[in-house]
Order: sequence, then C-alpha cells, then structure tokens
Amino acid sequence: MAPVLVREAGDTADGPASRGPAVGQNGGMATAIDELPVHSWLTDMDGVLVHEQAALPGAVEFIEALQTHGRRFLVLTNNSIFTPRDLRARLSRSGMDLPEESIWTSALATARFLAEQAPGAAAYVIGEAGLTSAMHDEGFILADADVEFVVLGETRTYSFEALTRAIRLIKGGAKFIATNPDVTGPSAEGPLPATGAVAAMITAATGISPYYIGKPNPLMMRTALNRIGAHSETSVMIGDRMDTDVKSGLEAGMRSILVLSGSTGAEDISTYPFRPTLVRDGIADVVPMVGELTPEIPVELGED
Ligand SMILES: [Mg+2]
Repeated sequence: MAPVLVREAGDTADGPASRGPAVGQNGGMATAIDELPVHSWLTDMDGVLVHEQAALPGAVEFIEALQTHGRRFLVLTNNSIFTPRDLRARLSRSGMDLPEESIWTSALATARFLAEQAPGAAAYVIGEAGLTSAMHDEGFILADADVEFVVLGETRTYSFEALTRAIRLIKGGAKFIATNPDVTGPSAEGPLPATGAVAAMITAATGISPYYIGKPNPLMMRTALNRIGAHSETSVMIGDRMDTDVKSGLEAGMRSILVLSGSTGAEDISTYPFRPTLVRDGIADVVPMVGELTPEIPVELGED
C-alpha cells in the first residue's frame, strides 16, 4: 500500500513545527498513552508480530497502518544472526511487506554504537552474516590479531578455536562486547544456547564480563530512534516482555505497550517494579491507535 503524505498539526510547509520541550503535563515523561502525540513506533518482532514464523492476528494490519499514515517505525529484534534483508524476506513470507530499512537488530545497534566509540577500529567477530555485514558496513576491519574489540553475536557454529582466540584477545586487553544477553533462544525442538550463554563461558575463562548492546540496554532503543530521526517523547515501544521490551523502552524515555501474545502473562506484570503505559491482548488492539494518537492534516495536492 502506498504511503499517504500527511502533515502533522502545527507543521508548516517548511517542515515540522517546533514542539518545544517535549515533556508531559506532569513535568516528566508522558505517563498516559495519549498525553503527547505519537509520531514514531518501535515494535519488537517475536511474540508481537510473529510467532514461529506465522503472523500474529493484526500484525499485517499494523504494518499497513504505519505505512498508510506515514509513520516512522522500526521492527526490533535482539537476534543478531540475520541481516535486515534476511528478516525482511522472513516477514514477507508471513504477509508483512516492509523495507529492510525498517528492521533494527542488535547486530546493527552494536555496530552503530562501536562506530561512534572507535570509528574504523579492528575487531575480532564471532557471529553470522547479520553481525559481520553490520560491522563491515560501519567501516570496521575484521581481524584476528591486534584488535580493539572482541564482538560476540549469535551463531549456531561456535568453534573451540574461535572461543580460544576470543579468550586470549580479551585477556590481552581487547574490549569484550556482545550483541545480546539472551541465554537461550527458541526453536521448534526446544531451547538453544544463545549469545549470553556463550558469553558466560568466555567470562568464566577470562574473569571479564561483556558489555551487552541489545535489549534491555536502552542503547538498543536510542540507536533505533536515532536511525529514524525520532524522539523518545513522541515514540512508543511495543513488546511482549516486561524484562526487556518494556524496561528498555521505559529507560529510553518512551511510552510502552505490553502485549500479552508472547512471553509475559497478565499475572506477571505486578511482579515488576515498573509498569507499561498500556497493556493489550495483542497487536490487533494497537492498530487503531496508529491513526488516533496523532492529529493529521492531509497535504493538499498542488500546494507548494
Ligand atoms: Mg519478543
């Protein structure tokens, strides 16, 4: 569906209006979902849009609504195995049609963060195409000696030799970075060991813990917001986990919507010391909000 050009209330033909300091009426961040307009949306992928490769009810309509209303958005995943192109193809098979530029992985966030820290540095990378191509694209030299960073991501083919090299490089002073702290990942046959579990092995051997970039580190959200030129005060994060999605959205200064179609059940919410802004059964309940939460003025054709 082609995006419809819209202009937000208060904008001029020259661009968005200055909206002043974006604080809620209580002087802090917005605490009600409709306290400030929502111009941009970040959404988790697994448990929100898809479950085991199948689209969840409302997911296709949600992506269509974002595009119809011309909203800025990114689909987020902590999984660092796949490139955005791979993930776009997977989502497309589930009926969701979105450009690869609308996908943000922990691998992209890691490469972006490190490029800001040490542009053009050398790194020893253990991971799949999702991570190695992200690091290449940010201008890193991938090497196995004299590196500033050891970067660990998700892979299904860890080798003893690669782990040995990583351990020796970290012992020798290379900084230890990991894409995401998840200790297991899902599969149809049962849990798989994930990045956090392999990082724990390296930590046991070196005494050094990694710096994790993916959720719940709010850096994952901040790099995503920067990528689409969005501001936390006028953005919402949607997720199915309190301990990662809602936590990192909150810590990045965003409003959050918890959907109960994935990991966190309604009975679990009260066990956390923080709350999402809204709780809904699934993404289908969020579809109408895409249009409702932002006043729009259609752009007249022929106007200059
Ligand atoms: Mg999820």
